[in-house]
Amino acid sequence: NSLSRCNRILRNMEASLTARDRVGIQDFVLLDAYTSESAFLDNLRKRFHENLIYTYIGTLLVSVNPYKDLDIYSKKQMDTYMGVNFFELPPHIYALADNVFRTMQSEFNNHFILISGESGSGKTEASKKILQFYAVSCPSTKLLNNVRDRLLLSNPVLEAFGNAKTLRNDNSSRFGKYMDIQFDHQGGAVGGHILSYLLEKSRVVHQNHGERNFHIFYQLVEGGEEDLLRWLGLERNCKHYSYLVQGDCAKVSSINDKSDWKTVRKALSVIEFSESDIEHLFGIIASVLHMGNIKFDTDSRGYAALSNNQEMHWLLGIPNQVLQHGLTHRKIEAKTEEVFSPFSVDHAVFARDALAKAIYGRTFNWLVSKINESLANKDSSRKTVIGLLDIYGFEVFSVNSFEQFCINYCNEKLQQLFIQLTLKSEQEEYEVEGIEWEPVPYFNNKIICDLVEEKFRGIISLLDEECLRPGEATDLTFLEKMEEKMGGHPHFVTHKLADQKTRKTLERGDFRLLHYAGEVTYCVVGFLDKNNDLLYRYGKEVMRQSKNAIIRHCFPYSEPDTKKRPETVVTQFKNSLLGLAEILMSKEPWYVRCIKPNEAKQPAHFDDVLVRHQMKYLGLMEHLRVRRAGFAYRRKYDIFLQRWYKPLCPDTWPNWKGTAAEGVQRLVKHLGYKSDEYKMGRTKIFIRHPRTLFATEDSLQVC
Ligand code: ADP
Ligand code: MG
Repeated sequence: NSLSRCNRILRNMEASLTARDRVGIQDFVLLDAYTSESAFLDNLRKRFHENLIYTYIGTLLVSVNPYKDLDIYSKKQMDTYMGVNFFELPPHIYALADNVFRTMQSEFNNHFILISGESGSGKTEASKKILQFYAVSCPSTKLLNNVRDRLLLSNPVLEAFGNAKTLRNDNSSRFGKYMDIQFDHQGGAVGGHILSYLLEKSRVVHQNHGERNFHIFYQLVEGGEEDLLRWLGLERNCKHYSYLVQGDCAKVSSINDKSDWKTVRKALSVIEFSESDIEHLFGIIASVLHMGNIKFDTDSRGYAALSNNQEMHWLLGIPNQVLQHGLTHRKIEAKTEEVFSPFSVDHAVFARDALAKAIYGRTFNWLVSKINESLANKDSSRKTVIGLLDIYGFEVFSVNSFEQFCINYCNEKLQQLFIQLTLKSEQEEYEVEGIEWEPVPYFNNKIICDLVEEKFRGIISLLDEECLRPGEATDLTFLEKMEEKMGGHPHFVTHKLADQKTRKTLERGDFRLLHYAGEVTYCVVGFLDKNNDLLYRYGKEVMRQSKNAIIRHCFPYSEPDTKKRPETVVTQFKNSLLGLAEILMSKEPWYVRCIKPNEAKQPAHFDDVLVRHQMKYLGLMEHLRVRRAGFAYRRKYDIFLQRWYKPLCPDTWPNWKGTAAEGVQRLVKHLGYKSDEYKMGRTKIFIRHPRTLFATEDSLQVC
């Protein structure tokens, strides 16, 4: 058994070596000739054209989006990769998933898989493949199948409500998602939990040209049953709804809203949404569409009056009078009595959109918590988890706003986490453990994270400061403040601060950040409003009267009153990212780095310049250098001993009297490790290549 396994690894390596002129190499760490950037790029390109989209750098998986369906995700493929050592077979996302799973099983600890790459590079697809692999490969019982189905079906639901077509990706995630999959002792998937991050709510009321609103709106209008549409007062025509037509691309060839609708409907019932939940949910979606069509006229006194009356009040279960009043007035603080101030038309439109965004955003959160209820495992025995992080990728458009600022900041933070967990801590660890080490230089993006988030001085704190000066501050005063504080920062420039050449590329209302992944020019217009996310108290009060159970849940009486300032959007986001980093830091990391081969979403087209750029900013070369010089596996002596000594030397166990380090030393001698294969640190053993360890695993099987 052991021999045949070793042979398989060797055969796989040999096969890949002999075929390498055609298909490149499978693991960058293996070959000396592949340390230059061009050789790295050549190898990726060669493999891409052979439909070999996966390549390793040690245990890190590089994936290049093929933009076409490959026949590599079948049940048969899953079976092939199940329980097989990492390097025995050609690189695959299943191999990574399987390896994570087995490490979790044998060491009974928690893991996460960080999937990163720019928008459209294949992150969400990768996370789905991993989930599918677990769904198929884990032990199953009737009860577990139930959990499995819910885990799988949470995806189409969340995608319907949280994804949209953008210029970068027809199915772009507009929220961040972290999902824990919980496993019991036997490795059965027994539950899950989802955390969602900052949904791009502004999309509900506005889409750029060539983009769409969230999929669910189109699915409902295109796919909704006749009865349902009639009941919701909707017409089967997206053009009819002003929230759906701004991007002028309701129909997209790669998207089938009709069949997606069916999938979502089915999924909702599997995830235990009751008929009344579903009724209320689509009542809300429809009422948002109706809301977008509300128009305001100027009345005789110059104030806003509703010029067309929609079915919204009925859908939301709020008396028409009350709703109309709520859409055209706000309540003013007064000592003893309620005073209402009428809106101007502009103001009313603003308040209407704010309410639509709030309704949608809160409903989305309700949806996530509802899904979590259905995934929750009530059994309190200890479980281990594998976390999957799939978050919106770095994005650059011709006009970038507050949303891109938040998304790109989030990507900076994840890159920082990656650097801390790999390049930085890895090298520091060698030093601490007293292992000879030639430091590998790398670009640390901490400088950009600080520029954005540093207390009192960073962009976020300046933005929040301006948001505290209503009436006085504007987007432009925010810009001026930044110019004052950030002038001279190597990663920040504006029209005023730029040299002559750069100035030509900047408008007066722009600021540009030199992100780790490239330059992005942000238009400052709207930053204050979007960060404040102002929702009038009266609007909320009106919503509380709704007969729609979801709406009532989303606008509770107990909501902290507006007297205390709520946290701004960006500060909430920043805090939630801090929380995320903490969750991740307590687990063992694995990485999938996704690469987008071209901007045109086309198969078989590999754009060298584009790919080289991504290789650079994803830090792949540095990662390769550290990996080549370093050690793929390390464990504290006692843990290593626990894991291997007992099964390998059963005679002397548990009589081992020496220190853990001595025990490990004895063990590796016994196993015949060569001196260049491992190093003994102060507290840990370091093993250069996972292959060595697999051989050990094999000897275990022989025992
Ligand atoms: P991201 O989440 O990184 O923005 P997605 O995962 O949504 O990107 O991928 C964008 C599109 O690329 C998908 O809708 C799909 O058409 C294609 N794609 C991505 N990964 C694969 C894959 N492994 N096989 C086939 N097509 C893929
Ligand atoms: Mg995505």
